[in-house]
Order: sequence, then structure tokens, then C-alpha cells
Amino acid sequence: MSNYIIAPPATPALPIAGSDRLFPIHRVYCVGRNYADHALEMGGDPDREPPFFFQKNPDNLQACDSFPYPAASHDVHHEIEMVVALKSGGVDIPPEAALDCVWGYGVALDMTRRDLQARAKEMSRPWEVAKAFEQSAPCSPLVATESVGHRAAGAIWLDVNGTRRQSGDLAQMIWKVPEMISYLSGLFRLAPGDIIMTGTPAGVGPVVRGDLMHGHIEGIGDLRVRVV
Ligand code: MN
Repeated sequence: MSNYIIAPPATPALPIAGSDRLFPIHRVYCVGRNYADHALEMGGDPDREPPFFFQKNPDNLQACDSFPYPAASHDVHHEIEMVVALKSGGVDIPPEAALDCVWGYGVALDMTRRDLQARAKEMSRPWEVAKAFEQSAPCSPLVATESVGHRAAGAIWLDVNGTRRQSGDLAQMIWKVPEMISYLSGLFRLAPGDIIMTGTPAGVGPVVRGDLMHGHIEGIGDLRVRVV
């Protein structure tokens, strides 16, 4: 018996590669414009505007092989990103200690209603309607640092229907993983189960129903998702 007046929602979680264990999700922090070539394609200037953060909801992140095209948009874009999963947190974490917080990594898509995002930018409104909708972040099983080490370099790419759309290298990230963790911990109390989506390289673009998205990050794995 419990005192909850409705059944408590399930804890969002991601699978662990090669295991039946699960990584429970606390919060999801996403970094915007963390690759210079993507900042440029979005009309920004990476030399003048540093990267910034927004959030998705924990249950937006799901390991699944399909992405339901969302309502209320006619311009939904793919953004391939490395995910960092934290096993510990805290406040004011120095960059030198930040990697001690990392449990592992994954491959995810930051699916974005670009038309609603553009309208939000024009009107100086927040981004939730563009970013934090249901199943907006399909994600691969996570891999542990114990197995793959820390990922600071390596190819990151996305094919749609077999054609390369996005291509970059983790080494191109403006804010590296330790800097992201340190910066976030100055704004929020980071906690075990927090996820950081680390930004996307250039080449974002629209998908339509039926498209097959295949993302890959060297040393981490693959993600295959059909738009339905
Ligand atoms: Mn993104």
C-alpha cells in the first residue's frame, strides 16, 4: 500500500548494451550549438555566442526502433548526438573531476519540430514545444566507460535512407564533456541518472514518414529508427 492517490508513473530508463539491466533517467540536459558548423547553419556565430542548454523530459528519451511523426509540425528535423549518462553529480564540479561522474555513453537523436522552434525564436519564447515532445529522443542502449573508456574523439554521423546527412567528429565539440558537466553543475545540482545530450554536427534536415535514420558514433554504437 502507498499514499499515492494515483499509480506513480514508471521511472524512465534506458537499456544497457549486452545486459538486461537498466539505467534510470533523472533529468535530460541538452546543449545547443556545440559544433561550430551546425551553429553556422542555424544562423549563429560560434565565435560570439557560446553554447547554451535546454531540457527535454526524462520520458522523451526511449530506446525504440520507431519515431512517431509528431502532431502540430510539418518540419521535423534529425539531430544526431552523443549522450552522456551520469552515475554521480553534485554542485560546482571542477572540470578535472567531471569525468568521474560519467557512467557511460549512448547514441541519440534530438528530434526537433524546426518550424515551432523558429517561431519560438522569433517570439523569444521557450523551446519545449519544439524539443520536449513524446519520443523526441530515440536512444541506443548505453555502453559503460568500463568497456569503452571516455569518448572525446571519434566519428559521429547520420544516414537517412542510406544517404549521409550529418557527419562530424566528437573532437569538434566546442564544449567538451568535462566542461559541460562543470558548467551545468554551477547552475543545477547534478544527480545520478542525469543525461546530457551533447549537441549535433552540421547537416540537420527534415524527415518524412517511412524514412530510416541510421546514426553511428565510433566506439559507442549504432541507432536505427524508422519514422512512422
Ligand atoms: Mn540538439
